[in-house]
Amino acid sequence: MEIKFSERAKHVSNTATREILKVTEKPEIISFAGGLPAPELFPVEEIKAACEAVLNESGEQALQYSTTEGYLPLRQAIVDRLAAIGIDTTPDNLLVITGSQQGLDLTGKLFLDEGDIVICESPTYLAAINAFKTYNPKFVEVPMDDEGMIMDALEQTLQANPDAKFIYTIPDFQNPTGRTMNLERRKKIVELANRYNIIIVEDNPYGAVRFAGEALPPVKHFDTEGRVVYLSTFSKIFAPGLRLGWICADETLLEKYVAFKQATDLHTDSFAQRITAKYIELFDLEEHIQKIKAVYLSRREKMMECIDAFFPKQVNHSVPEGGLFIWIELPEQIDTEELFAECLKNNVAFVPGKPFFPNSAKKNTFRLNYSNMPEEKIVEGMKRIGKVLDEAIAS
Ligand code: PMP
Repeated sequence: MEIKFSERAKHVSNTATREILKVTEKPEIISFAGGLPAPELFPVEEIKAACEAVLNESGEQALQYSTTEGYLPLRQAIVDRLAAIGIDTTPDNLLVITGSQQGLDLTGKLFLDEGDIVICESPTYLAAINAFKTYNPKFVEVPMDDEGMIMDALEQTLQANPDAKFIYTIPDFQNPTGRTMNLERRKKIVELANRYNIIIVEDNPYGAVRFAGEALPPVKHFDTEGRVVYLSTFSKIFAPGLRLGWICADETLLEKYVAFKQATDLHTDSFAQRITAKYIELFDLEEHIQKIKAVYLSRREKMMECIDAFFPKQVNHSVPEGGLFIWIELPEQIDTEELFAECLKNNVAFVPGKPFFPNSAKKNTFRLNYSNMPEEKIVEGMKRIGKVLDEAIAS
């Protein structure tokens, strides 16, 4: 049967990475591949209590349809959190979405016609590439260094692509590299966006998970013309299964997001929104985040110790001050997809770096996740990867 798919559907396929992640879910595998928070830290008992309170106090409303913009007390709680990091906003500038991932899809819907240009970091978040790809754009990659996207290169890119639709950036503990954009560049990117009249999409799921170094204000803090769309989420600080994220943007932009969100799924899960608002009311979310940070810091420490102890000296790695990932760069001739196959035989996994580059197929990199494995498994898994790396570099 010939199925008459849309042009759009023809561009979308089951990604290699999804297949990789499926393999790595087997219980015998020590997986540094996913981007999962530590499940043992989920506040299950507290959420149970919040759930019960919601059902007792407002069960009917919690199970009913609700407004597209989101549950007002939750939006107010988000406004308070944003105020603390230097984003001065109101509930009217917020839309609660089904994970910040939905914000990426809506961003594609809102801005991208076929062939339009998205400017992004090189490498960048794989599922953002996939979300935007649905709309069949072109990606222009801007190189990074340890301080984030390189601004001279961004300016040249803007000059060469005056019709580009938006700049997509993950300034804090970027996925996949764990790198953070420095303060000067945060100011500069806004200045450039103003000068070249372009939207910035700031995807910031990890900013609240800083466990070392000095906190930096988000890019949105420097926004002078309402051109920064800020996306964030409860996934890394609370529970990703609830699928709660938000968009903070200027009214004109937000109105469009609300319209598209409504057409997509009417509204975000009312029950999940009320549970989260109730949790924030009854318990101390900040204290919970402190616990997450302490665990991730010691897991990152352990993983970096293991890099020093077990990986060959030719390996370069990022030093994340928060978030979930370390980025590994190997000598150029090494293909990490081949190493991945070898590692799987040894029941250990990472994500090869190639799919994080939308155009340039850099094959000598990979991403390690440290949030989801206890320290003894980090040591064992890193030893096994180290052995595979030693053999690859020696051959
Ligand atoms: N953006 C980035 C950079 C991410 O790493 C993730 C999660 N892995 C997301 C967005 C989506 O997160 P969620 O939909 O759970 O909020």
